[in-house]
Amino acid sequence: MNNINKERLFQNLATSSEIGSIPGKGLRRLALSDEDKVMRDIFKKWCEEAGLSVRVDDLGNMYGRREGRKSLPPIVMGSHLDTQPEGGRFDGVLGVLLALEAIETLNDNGIEPDRPVEIVNFTNEEGARFEPPMLGSGGISGVFDQAYVHSRQDREGHRFLEELQRIGYKGKEENRIGDFDSFLELHIEQGPILEDEGKQIGIVEGVQGISWLDVTITGEADHAGTTPMHLRKDALMAAGEIMHKLETTIARDDVSVTIGKISVSPNTVNCIPGKALFTVDIRSTDDDVRKTAVNATKNSIRDVCRLRDVGVEIAELWETEKIVFDEGITGAIEQSVKHLGYSSKRMVSGAGHDAKYINNLGPTAMIFLPSVNGKSHVPSELTLEEDIVRGANVLYHTLLTLSQE
Ligand SMILES: [Zn+2]
Repeated sequence: MNNINKERLFQNLATSSEIGSIPGKGLRRLALSDEDKVMRDIFKKWCEEAGLSVRVDDLGNMYGRREGRKSLPPIVMGSHLDTQPEGGRFDGVLGVLLALEAIETLNDNGIEPDRPVEIVNFTNEEGARFEPPMLGSGGISGVFDQAYVHSRQDREGHRFLEELQRIGYKGKEENRIGDFDSFLELHIEQGPILEDEGKQIGIVEGVQGISWLDVTITGEADHAGTTPMHLRKDALMAAGEIMHKLETTIARDDVSVTIGKISVSPNTVNCIPGKALFTVDIRSTDDDVRKTAVNATKNSIRDVCRLRDVGVEIAELWETEKIVFDEGITGAIEQSVKHLGYSSKRMVSGAGHDAKYINNLGPTAMIFLPSVNGKSHVPSELTLEEDIVRGANVLYHTLLTLSQE
């Protein structure tokens, strides 16, 4: 039995890498843009050439289906073909193209699995044009309703529904993903762990839980020259002390803490900041650890503000529990990795993916491939050819296992 066909796979990847190409080998292929349409048309043609029946749902998600020997719920594989404004060639794209390659390899080997097999290309995973991200997968898994998805607007005021109709990819609601046996998403890691540990395949067991806090510190704005240090209520100095504490006492190996957004007012050179606003992003693979860290963060913020005699308000902006993927599927991935003689690491995703929402609908898991220097969402994003071939073979062998009743 043959493994996947490298020449065909890299030919398809080269074609995808031309559609919306920007300097530095990157891609700009925003959801529902002209470039997205060109890519969708080609993907549709590839699916049809592979003998798949293609359908499109009301949110523009595209499916290619190969029937099985029995009428059972299908194995579904896929990811997204849209990119960031200055994105790379691999994020999302590999999950779709390697799924297609797995089906082509079934065809080459004349294998007729028991179960039907479907590939999916989800609409607007990136959220770069229409916020929030993952509108296609979130829309079919009950996270967002159809009217919400259709009414999203980009910065120029173009609506999702009109753009979907403009590029000819508004399908029917009845075409959405039905009952399925397993959903598999292969994706680049977008982080440095696999490369750092010299592992070839990531077996993704779930997605981290996330908490966002919004902190407002209120001191007193005063003249920078006339107010002695001991009489100040400097909101930004308080924020600085808090940030140092969070990095040194709350952040650990199993909890990440990020302050990604900050603003001060009045925000002038010679005025003591009367107000400082910042966000805190706290993540962990363990929900209890994360919740303990959130409480410790709040206490730490309040302690600093009390000692400095400044006011503080802490709002909980958003929280999402960790997600645990299906053990049956992660076990099948692990078996394939062993069979092929590759090295692997069981890991948890730090980022959201379509699989996170599809997990609401049925058994789901993910495969990660190494990202050179951990980079993604930039033109220099790179996954090496040998890693792509390994990923394609793992996906194919996992499909073989799962598609038998
Ligand atoms: Zn992605």
